[in-house]
Amino acid sequence: ADDLSPSAQIEYDKLLGGLLIEGFDERSCRSRYQFARYHRNAARVPSAYLIERLRRQEALQKKCGPGTKSYNKALKQLSSGQSINTTDCNYLFLIIHAGLGNRMLEITSAFLYALLTDRILLVDSPESYGNMLREKVIGGNTYRSLVGARPPFVYLYLDGNYGFHDKLFYCEDDQQFLKGVPWLIMRTDMYFVPSLFLIPSYQDELSRLFPEKDTVFHHLARYLFHPTNDIWYSVTAYYKAYLAKADKRVGVQIRIYETKGILQRNGPFPHILEQILSCAQNEKLLPEIGATAEAAAVTAGKNQTIAVLTTSLSSWYSDQIRKRYSEHQTVDGTTVKVYQPSHEEYQKSKNKKHNMKALAEIYLLSMTDVLITSGFSTFGYAAQGLAGKTPWILFRSTNHVAPDPACGRGMSIEPCFHNAPFYDCKAKRDNVDLGKVVPYVRRCEDVSWGLKIV
Ligand code: GDP
Repeated sequence: ADDLSPSAQIEYDKLLGGLLIEGFDERSCRSRYQFARYHRNAARVPSAYLIERLRRQEALQKKCGPGTKSYNKALKQLSSGQSINTTDCNYLFLIIHAGLGNRMLEITSAFLYALLTDRILLVDSPESYGNMLREKVIGGNTYRSLVGARPPFVYLYLDGNYGFHDKLFYCEDDQQFLKGVPWLIMRTDMYFVPSLFLIPSYQDELSRLFPEKDTVFHHLARYLFHPTNDIWYSVTAYYKAYLAKADKRVGVQIRIYETKGILQRNGPFPHILEQILSCAQNEKLLPEIGATAEAAAVTAGKNQTIAVLTTSLSSWYSDQIRKRYSEHQTVDGTTVKVYQPSHEEYQKSKNKKHNMKALAEIYLLSMTDVLITSGFSTFGYAAQGLAGKTPWILFRSTNHVAPDPACGRGMSIEPCFHNAPFYDCKAKRDNVDLGKVVPYVRRCEDVSWGLKIV
């Protein structure tokens, strides 16, 4: 989109290059059309085919979604418990849970799967799940009585602790079988897109949808997620107050998995503080600190300001980084300011206010110019994907010792599929390295047993 006139560029940005459609009440959801103002990278352009398929999916959703005749009919058939055929309206019902980052990855994966299999995606919500439970469609022994016949629904258990048979979902033959099932009910806490790229019957379609393979989450997340006005106001107000004026914005996402006693999940861990600083300084993302204040007084001041946005459940790390940069001058005269919007101490995934803060911070991180993320964390994956920025990944420390090197550049902007299956469906062999089958699906940098698109 380099050759557009300024007004055409504004229109292009507003709709994210055609990912979004006009016609929503802008005031009811500001983030929908303001996203591009805070994310200036036109480098990744959605394919014309992706846009065409999204429009087709929207039409299907209109035709078959909750409230339509087809939907009511499908529900009735489902509750009849009889063997039914697939029709034009088939469904993927997603049960979401876990943290915010995980949820974004789950929804994106399920949405892509729904699109590939021409299904309506129903996300766990009062009008769908509640209804089905009330009408006793789910549960009971509906399924058991159907053994032998083609079931009206299949429950796909795809959480990280799934078993061998659950994983057969990622095999071609099983996908062919599932085609004939009108209702799929899926529970997952994973970004399973990389394994879809390994299923032969989806490969051509995926290549057409995503000629740049590592943009799946990037485009779909921009299409799917639009924070409510409350959240969006807090994000943009914070951005304007602390980040907008800086010459450079560095996002540091600090997620700690080490433990120290039961009540001190986030440390403080000095080795992690040092890891963050050595990553930032070795990779020249933040300037080094001069030895003394006098020495700094004589440096020809570089009049630059860097705003560091940290996110963490703990405030200790950002307090320490702020202290270092305020007590000492930097070697090149750059001023470094450190900001952290919240420190919630503990994960409280059922608390709405807490989740709103988490989502706001994922978006704030995505607005920075440079990202340092914590390996293993889907919170960071979501931010890097929305941003379209390849992060520097802090590797996980073990036994309270920082790893060397402290961090490494990610291979792509895609999330990692933790707990990917390593089963070769064709050869019927387990423990095969599926990170070597095609060049664009590799083992992750941060999770050696995971898979990611590069
Ligand atoms: P993951 O567990 O790191 O993969 O990320 P998730 O987002 O799935 O779950 C972590 C949850 O912990 C988040 O959704 C938040 O509820 C909370 N959390 C973790 N890190 C932060 C943070 O930096 N800021 C805020 N506000 N919440 C966080």
